Amino acid sequence: MPSFHDLTLTNIHKSTRNAVVLTLKSADPAQFKFKQGQYLTFRRDFNGVELRRSYSISAGRSEGILQVGIKQVDGGTFSTWANTDLAVGDVMQAMPPMGSFSTKLEANAQKTYLAFAGGSGITPIISTLKTILATEPNSQFTLIYANQNVNSIMFREELEDLKNTYLSRLTLIHILERDSQNIDLFTGRIDAEKCDLLFKHWVNITSVDTVFICGPEPMMHAIDASLKTHGLTKDQIKFELFTAPQQGRAAQPAKHQNTALPDGTQTTITLDGATRSFTIAQNQSLLEAGLANKIDIPFSCKAGVCLSCRCKVLKGEVEMIANHALEDYEVEKGYILSCQSYPLTAELMVDYDQ
Ligand SMILES: Cc1cc2nc3c(=O)[nH]c(=O)nc-3n(C[C@H](O)[C@H](O)[C@H](O)COP(=O)(O)OP(=O)(O)OC[C@H]3O[C@@H](n4cnc5c(N)ncnc54)[C@H](O)[C@@H]3O)c2cc1C
Repeated sequence: MPSFHDLTLTNIHKSTRNAVVLTLKSADPAQFKFKQGQYLTFRRDFNGVELRRSYSISAGRSEGILQVGIKQVDGGTFSTWANTDLAVGDVMQAMPPMGSFSTKLEANAQKTYLAFAGGSGITPIISTLKTILATEPNSQFTLIYANQNVNSIMFREELEDLKNTYLSRLTLIHILERDSQNIDLFTGRIDAEKCDLLFKHWVNITSVDTVFICGPEPMMHAIDASLKTHGLTKDQIKFELFTAPQQGRAAQPAKHQNTALPDGTQTTITLDGATRSFTIAQNQSLLEAGLANKIDIPFSCKAGVCLSCRCKVLKGEVEMIANHALEDYEVEKGYILSCQSYPLTAELMVDYDQ
């Protein structure tokens, strides 16, 4: 079961006016081995309130470093602190890497990858791009990266360097909302119409094997819909959502109100090899009840977006009101997100160690 570990900040690089790239070092590097596209969940106390925030790893797997990119959100607590208060030598606390925004790497593959990133959504995508280009020498990668203007492009120089290194295998298209460019199509927002034109003139969509998308939610939905219209299947499209969204995948339909359980639900959980029992009250999620009973259930976003609070139901049933992280096959096997799960039965047994 993941727990928090100290990471020492060894470098801070200002990627844009309001985004930093942090390089971190663990005393136990084996704990922080990662797959491309995974993220770290940090915790920090802000005036007595512990915040947990996830940030995607921007380093490639073969680079031998641990790096995250954090864009400052207006009024955002953690991202503002990370952009303004951190100094080299500071110690941050993070859980080992998590997330499944990746595909299997195959050295002999001859694949065509397409990625769409918007703003800070570039962080897991640049990790994926660097890793794939370094480990699959016969694969091609096209990145379409949307930003407001040139100055808000994160990793701008690094992307240019990568383009020069992988001249024949990496295509880089910047779409800028406010700055005009030589090609009209590259100005504005990415919507269905722009996707149609990009697929007509710049990307041979019929040859694409896998698409990665990470950015603002409306942009992600527009791209997803367009890709499906152009013949791609759900399995070919990989998403990473940064925000707590309104829509998602594989959410279970509502069956009962848990007000039908006036005495609550007798719950047994196994976590780190120990088994504990407690009652989940009416209208309490599994995570809320566990934390109220002083059980250190791992969590981060509390919005069904990350996978930190994933567990498996062994007995009983829950209603999962949102799921933006588990794959359909995991839901079918009984995996749930504790933060979004409300019991439907008088008895519940779950396991966090599977
Ligand atoms: C899997 C995953 C990976 C991610 N990777 C990255 C990444 O690589 N890079 C990156 O930059 N981000 C990433 N994020 C997003 C990141 O985790 C944070 O959500 C983001 O940095 C904002 O956190 P914050 O604490 O700064 O903002 P918060 O304090 O949570 O605020 C967010 C917004 O809500 C508003 N707000 C806050 N409190 C209130 C209130 N009481 N009333 C009204 N409005 C309020 C704020 O003004 C702000 O606009 C990722 C998220 C996930 C789930």
